[in-house]
Amino acid sequence: MQVQENCTYMTSGAVMPFCKGCGHSNILKKLNEALGELKLDPKDVCLVTDIGCIGLTDALFDKVHTVHTTHGRSTGFATGIAVADKVLAEKRLKTIVLIGDGGSMIGLLHIVNAALMNVDLTVIVANNFLFGMTGGQQSSLTPEHFITQTTPFGNMNPSLDICGIAEASKAGFIARAVASDKDLSGLMAKAIQHSGFSIVEILELCTEHATKRNDLKGSMLAKMAEAEGHKLGILRNDVERREFSVKYAADVQSHLKEMKPPRFIEPIEGHKLKMPVGFIISGSAGERVQSSAGMLCQAALRCGLEVTQKNDNPVTQGSGFSLSEVIISPEEINYTGVSEADFVVVVSETGMKELKAQDIYQRISDKTVFIVDESIELDEVSSKVIKLPLRKMCGGDKASLGALDYVIRNYSLFDHEIFIKLLEKKFGEYSKIFRGEYYLDLV
Ligand code: SF4
Ligand SMILES: [Mg+2]
Repeated sequence: MQVQENCTYMTSGAVMPFCKGCGHSNILKKLNEALGELKLDPKDVCLVTDIGCIGLTDALFDKVHTVHTTHGRSTGFATGIAVADKVLAEKRLKTIVLIGDGGSMIGLLHIVNAALMNVDLTVIVANNFLFGMTGGQQSSLTPEHFITQTTPFGNMNPSLDICGIAEASKAGFIARAVASDKDLSGLMAKAIQHSGFSIVEILELCTEHATKRNDLKGSMLAKMAEAEGHKLGILRNDVERREFSVKYAADVQSHLKEMKPPRFIEPIEGHKLKMPVGFIISGSAGERVQSSAGMLCQAALRCGLEVTQKNDNPVTQGSGFSLSEVIISPEEINYTGVSEADFVVVVSETGMKELKAQDIYQRISDKTVFIVDESIELDEVSSKVIKLPLRKMCGGDKASLGALDYVIRNYSLFDHEIFIKLLEKKFGEYSKIFRGEYYLDLV
């Protein structure tokens, strides 16, 4: 689209909703001018706004895309938008975040992360030194000695240097300005034009909460910044760093082409199941409990069944118990947990201890079948209990697999041959997987 001279990106007849003298009005007028200077097609501009008075921007810019987000998260949303456009779409979008000092404090790490990634977006921090919309509370960008609603005797802390943070985060374009600067639109245009992450901190007045309390005038803002050691102007303009999508194309997309496409399990008719069957399989970490449950799921899927697997283990993944709940069903399954188990497999004392801790006896019936290693003491239950020398015959690392093999073979849940094929693909000849003849004789 040919963009006309004096194109406005703002809603016709829009009235600034801000308090008289509020810096936001000027920032937004200058942003409109900056977009005009760049002659951007309004369809190629996305404003992402944060919570706070600056978040009222959306209604003022009805010619461009706008996304209103949660507090502090605007840069996170904008990162996703910009990456999606640059990696998956037409690479035309200019994504601009409008955030206050409060929001940038809440979502600081989103800004850091976007800068580290060097995503093609511009963050405009409208810094009036306090949370304006909620009544004038102190933010991390409030200068030392500044009076706010929550610092009535003056802020005890020095202010956070957001541009310094951006610098440490390798941002390519960094600038600090005052809202009344004559060339603010030119500065914003430069930031928006920059390919990669750019940030402009704009110092401004909240006339409602800051000026009277601090006897503050717009002409004092530059001096205030200097007193905090915060320089004004363009602080960095580095065009050498590769923008995220360029890096992504070189470092990731080229490898993706070499990757084999994912293979999906093609189901065949191999079961006669009429009802869902629930398994609870419990043992010790490092003994392939969950991967054995996974193999059960794979075989059931291959036989045309629906499956779910829900795993559980302590935070320390390499020690303690390991548990899986598996449902195989001829119908769609809407809940992943097993509320009443058909089979409970227990292959170690640690696994038994955890089942007791999880009150397993509340989830069994007299139809439940326990397949338990011979070493495990089980409480008196009305369910059927089958004790097998699983650990002795299969080894600790294949005890749960041996128990599942036993169930599939003896209870005809689905075609046992399918399970055998899966085992052989992973472990080699079936007759040698479970330490030979003894196990085969038993089953
Ligand atoms: S409360 Fe402060 S930031 Fe909000 S509109 Fe009024 S002057 Fe502007
Ligand atoms: Mg603010």
